[in-house]
Amino acid sequence: MKEKNMDLNLGTSLPIMEHFYTIQGEGRHTGTAAYFIRIGGCDVGCHWCDVKESWDPNLHPVSSAEEIACLAASHSKTIVLTGGEPLMWNLNPITRQLKDLGCTIHIETSGAYPLSGEIDWICLSPKKTSLPVQEVYDRAHELKVIVFNQHDFLFAEEQAEKTNDKAVLYLQPEWSNREKMTPKIIDYVMKNPKWHISLQTHKYLNIP
Ligand code: SF4
Repeated sequence: MKEKNMDLNLGTSLPIMEHFYTIQGEGRHTGTAAYFIRIGGCDVGCHWCDVKESWDPNLHPVSSAEEIACLAASHSKTIVLTGGEPLMWNLNPITRQLKDLGCTIHIETSGAYPLSGEIDWICLSPKKTSLPVQEVYDRAHELKVIVFNQHDFLFAEEQAEKTNDKAVLYLQPEWSNREKMTPKIIDYVMKNPKWHISLQTHKYLNIP
């Protein structure tokens, strides 16, 4: 048990919920084939979260970061680290291994924890319940705000203010409320064209 915790602290092992080769459905890299590694553990607590099974890291097998990296790199050179909240963990070992194998590494994060590891593309999706740390605002390549209700447009503007000005800005309808919010997002983006629409195209395509 002590050894297991030490490996988790070092990042040489991680609680891996699932890993799979698919098509990135959201944001800047929509339509791109990528290998997803979903790391368990999240304490951000979004009420509309569609991966609540990821929250408790103890439910997911502790796996060797090196083995997962090798498996992922054998399928794709584009890797997406997602969760849960992947920055709850030390990502130095897994990203070092992936880099050695020639991979480009993307991360999907709420930004609630400091960055670790060597990341090529940071997708910041901030949440009201646990706001990002400044470092992630400063280094994000895309800002993707999930729109569940009208107030989220205001939240999106506040978050864009805090994010570096090179980041690409996306508004994405929360899936369960998409019929109501998608027309409002279309209207908002036409009035405020610095924003782009992101859709969860993998859900329309019925792929993971
Ligand atoms: Fe779910 Fe992501 Fe929110 Fe965590 S940050 S609760 S994984 S939507």
